[in-house]
Amino acid sequence: STWANVPQGPPAILGITEAFKADSFEKKINLGVGAYRDDKGKPYVLPSVRKAEENVISSRLNKEYAGITGVPEFTKAAAVLAYGKDSSALDRLAITQSISGTGALRIGAAFIERFYPGAKTIYIPTPSWANHAAVFKDAGLQVEKYAYYNKDTIGLDFEGLLADVNKAPNGSVFLFHACAHNPTGVDPTPEQWKQIEAAVKAKGHFSFFDMAYQGFASGDIHKDAFAVRYFVEQGHNIVLSQSFAKNMGLYGERIGAFSAVCADAEERKRVDSQIKILVRPLYSNPPIHGARIAAEILNTPALYDQWLVEVKAMADRIITMRALLKDNLEKLGSKHDWSHITSQIGMFAYTGLNPDQMDKLAKEHSVYATRDGRISVAGITSDNVGRLAEAIFKVKG
Ligand code: PMP
Repeated sequence: STWANVPQGPPAILGITEAFKADSFEKKINLGVGAYRDDKGKPYVLPSVRKAEENVISSRLNKEYAGITGVPEFTKAAAVLAYGKDSSALDRLAITQSISGTGALRIGAAFIERFYPGAKTIYIPTPSWANHAAVFKDAGLQVEKYAYYNKDTIGLDFEGLLADVNKAPNGSVFLFHACAHNPTGVDPTPEQWKQIEAAVKAKGHFSFFDMAYQGFASGDIHKDAFAVRYFVEQGHNIVLSQSFAKNMGLYGERIGAFSAVCADAEERKRVDSQIKILVRPLYSNPPIHGARIAAEILNTPALYDQWLVEVKAMADRIITMRALLKDNLEKLGSKHDWSHITSQIGMFAYTGLNPDQMDKLAKEHSVYATRDGRISVAGITSDNVGRLAEAIFKVKG
């Protein structure tokens, strides 16, 4: 038949969810999903999002196409959120709405592939979000790795990172996670970011920031944007991918933005024209509903303030679960140092458990997560944290 030559691909990450579903144990725990859960383990729609959506619906707007770069009220506000309202970047910023963060990365990769004057290679951290390499390769870029995670310290391999920044040919493109590095939860400190910036500048490298967790990491939208804003202040004309999946809980609405800081307004105009030429044959123009919701929140002061409280509450619940997990492990008498559980940031924790131990967690304790030892802290609740700690204690000690 026509597709006789199509080989069977390996199961995607959703394999965990399937194994979880197939498990009949009532107290099973799913720590695989990359989506926030409330303290009852349920998906959560932010009240500010509900309210914004009601406002959007009651204003009975038409369903005409947006322009190629999306809903302007959304992209303008997204830019202010990322770069800060007083940023010098705002009037020289080319920005387009995107199919969430993934779409923004893909547009950015395609733009680099078409126009970056240097090598069409992008350096990503080891490890990185599992989809990064695929997105960049499919867009025609060569993918190289730089050192990031030190498995002995369960922390940042700062020396290795700097060494790799210095080793790469001048003018290379580097992908940085702006905050809440996925999968490790390990971020550079502001002091370390400053040293990374200096090294990047000395080498004439180009920075691509992926900011999928602004506000969701620390609970403070400004703090989480530190690296992005610092690089821009230091004169880097970065490109940026933004996602509103996590910080607004708009996962399935697919709302994000891709932006390029340009040298001046004239360059901005040229870059903007080429982003449009790139997007048009990909999907013509983006969906409008989620962009209207996000714009309503970002542009309505009362809703914006409410959203800030809600995004902080999500971050705080995660921070609390980290502390509870560590406390429980220590109470059980674990002799390991679990301080990384609370020093890491964002949705995920890298436990340091190895693949065998993760298999045991699943088989013997009905605790499901990826074999690299990453757990989604969002899947931990006041109810299951005790049982989770016992399970980890039993497989690791
Ligand atoms: N970048 C990183 C680092 C992520 O963790 C994610 C989501 N898991 C994304 C980008 C993109 O997600 P989305 O397309 O849902 O916005």
